[in-house]
Amino acid sequence: QPVIYWFRQDLRLSDLPALKAAAASGCPVIPCFFIDDETPGEWAPGGASRWWLHHSLVALGKEISQKGGRLVVRRGDSRKLLAEVVEETGAQAVYCSEAYEPWNRELQRVLSADLEQANARLHCHEGSLLFHPDAIRNKAGQPFKVFTPYWRHCRELGIAAPGGRQQLSRGRFHQHRLQGLKPAEWGLLPESPNWADGWLDHWTPGAKGARASLNRFTKGALDGYSEGRDFPALNGSSRLSPHLHWGELSPRQACAAILDADSAGDSDQQKFIAEIGWREFNYHLLYHHPHIPERPFKPRFEQLPWADSQARLGHWQQGKTGYPIVDAGMRELWHTGFMHNRVRMVCASFLTKHLLLPWQWGARWFWDTLVDADLANNSCGWQWVAGCGADAAPYFRIFNPVLQGKRFDAGGDYIRRWVPELGALPDRYLHAPWEAPADTLAEAGITLGDHYPEPMVDHREARAAALEAYDVLPSGD
Ligand code: FAD
Repeated sequence: QPVIYWFRQDLRLSDLPALKAAAASGCPVIPCFFIDDETPGEWAPGGASRWWLHHSLVALGKEISQKGGRLVVRRGDSRKLLAEVVEETGAQAVYCSEAYEPWNRELQRVLSADLEQANARLHCHEGSLLFHPDAIRNKAGQPFKVFTPYWRHCRELGIAAPGGRQQLSRGRFHQHRLQGLKPAEWGLLPESPNWADGWLDHWTPGAKGARASLNRFTKGALDGYSEGRDFPALNGSSRLSPHLHWGELSPRQACAAILDADSAGDSDQQKFIAEIGWREFNYHLLYHHPHIPERPFKPRFEQLPWADSQARLGHWQQGKTGYPIVDAGMRELWHTGFMHNRVRMVCASFLTKHLLLPWQWGARWFWDTLVDADLANNSCGWQWVAGCGADAAPYFRIFNPVLQGKRFDAGGDYIRRWVPELGALPDRYLHAPWEAPADTLAEAGITLGDHYPEPMVDHREARAAALEAYDVLPSGD
């Protein structure tokens, strides 16, 4: 009798405990993936994520066929599709990696019961995190709400080494005749306009691409990462986030490779591991507070008097705020499906504090446009910046976009790359073009309001308005 391996956010064949368990069952394995836009409801993958998923599935399918198997891809409701596959094959066991989004947890619960009814079993194994969110508790037995003690506790437990690379030897796949959809029928790629044209120049989705990125990073930017990661013009971070989201690489594999890299100093290695720690912490928060994609972790923030302006949102989305560092970030996002972490913070702060628009609006836009869109990291990232998250930046920390630009893009390379119409402005005016004298603007060929927008809001006025809005909130944590 065959067993089913149900791939979800674990699109790899190595360091995958659930796949190892499927192989250890001694039964031939049928690998499946279901493109399910129904069960996640409003959290079905956004456009950029779907683009990534398409290419990642192609890569996974290729890897499986090289090992003599065939990946079955179907589209629809996971519960219905899994029941069909179980019935068509007579499988008595389904293996998968645990997933932590609220809808995924509910799905696991329901499927477990469904399969039991059909005399089969769902075997759910950890595989996407270093630490199960439920296994980490403080001395009072409660989940953590603050990163530092959380991560200290995790580090004391130690990070397990990855399992071997080869989870399935050749010939362990079942030679089935199940019907599946061809890539052209998956409906994951943009049609017209094809906004992802050229993205394969930036990204190589799939486990092989993930290993190549990890390799490049350990041999390059890891050395100096703790400083370099903050400068958007440098290629100073790993760009592993979409690979980690789709599980093309496990966090154990990433950590092991970083700790093995002798080219890097201890502080760079530890800084990287701590960033993986933030990912773990965000999953811990999502697991214990499943409402955080929609509602603030700190309930008093529900009363913040947000503005309501689609027009303002549109300027921000299109990178037309008149603040060069914000516009560069929003355009990088649109053109590549990625935005540098420092700039994510600046853009998110601008939306929530300068424009006073709800953080959920920004999170939604990121959800649709980021190739690494991830429910835990995105929700917590936005709540952190907006000041309403667990262990968040205090609300009154309002980034000054001009100073952020001057500090982290002093030479203006990042801004010139993404906002080319400002290219000829001297560095000293690049971060605040409205301060440039008329003749300097003219020499650079710029008329504000024509070639490049006037600033949407004045920083000082916007800051004062944000602080005033905050004062309305009931006091408390
Ligand atoms: P590196 O610096 O190389 O870090 C290595 C890995 O650590 C990353 O791949 C990521 O998995 C993890 N990591 C790094 N920084 C963070 C962080 N601050 N929080 C959680 N994990 C982190 N990350 C996502 O993966 N998906 C999202 O949807 C997402 N949305 C965000 C929204 C906002 C408003 C903010 C401020 C941050 C968001 N982040 C998100 C976190 C962070 O910006 C990205 O993980 C990081 O920029 C990815 O680039 P990298 O892989 O080069 O990171």
